[in-house]
Amino acid sequence: MAQKETSASAKDETVFVTVRSDCFHTTPNCSSFNQTGNIQEKPVTALRDDFPICKRCSGEYEPSSTPYKSPLRKQLEQLDPDDVG
Ligand SMILES: [Zn+2]
Repeated sequence: MAQKETSASAKDETVFVTVRSDCFHTTPNCSSFNQTGNIQEKPVTALRDDFPICKRCSGEYEPSSTPYKSPLRKQLEQLDPDDVG
């Protein structure tokens, strides 16, 4: 019987959490860290099995629903509206 690998690289993967976080991140560059700081590295195995992953890091988060506006994006639209889309 061959051993089945459930997840190729999840075993020793390092993840990132903050003191108050209720989820973990796969990258220290996640935009969620901008407000919190105090990033801690941990092996994913140190977390609970049901500890949720950050939606931005997992890709579930939709940038289009971002509550804050990007001034740069708005500026770009004004520069060349006909080129958008
Ligand atoms: Zn994240």
